[in-house]
Amino acid sequence: MLVVDLHCEQGHLFEGWFASADDLASQQARGLVSCPVCGVREVVRRPSAPRLNVSHAVEPQAAPSVAPSGARDAQALQARYLQAVRQVLTSTEDVGERFVD
Ligand SMILES: [Zn+2]
Repeated sequence: MLVVDLHCEQGHLFEGWFASADDLASQQARGLVSCPVCGVREVVRRPSAPRLNVSHAVEPQAAPSVAPSGARDAQALQARYLQAVRQVLTSTEDVGERFVD
C-alpha cells in the first residue's frame, strides 16, 4: 500500500491510497486521479516524510508550525469540508433510479 500526499493546481491538499507507485502512475496516466474538492485531474504528488532524507536530522526541541496562518486556515477549512463530505456519504443512501419515488 502506498499512501501519498497530493495537491491540485488550486492548492487543495489530499491523500491518495494506491497499491504501488506503478499503480499511482497508471491511474494518473488514465486520468483516474482527481482532486476530491474541485475535481481537476492535474494533481501532483507532494514529497512525503518517508521520501525525505532525514537520517542526519535530529529531533527538534519544539516543532514550530511552518505553515503561515492563511495556509493553516485553508487546511482547516478543507479538513472540515472533507469531514462533512464523509459524513454525508456515510449517512445517506444513493437511491439512483428511485430518486423520483
Ligand atoms: Zn482541487
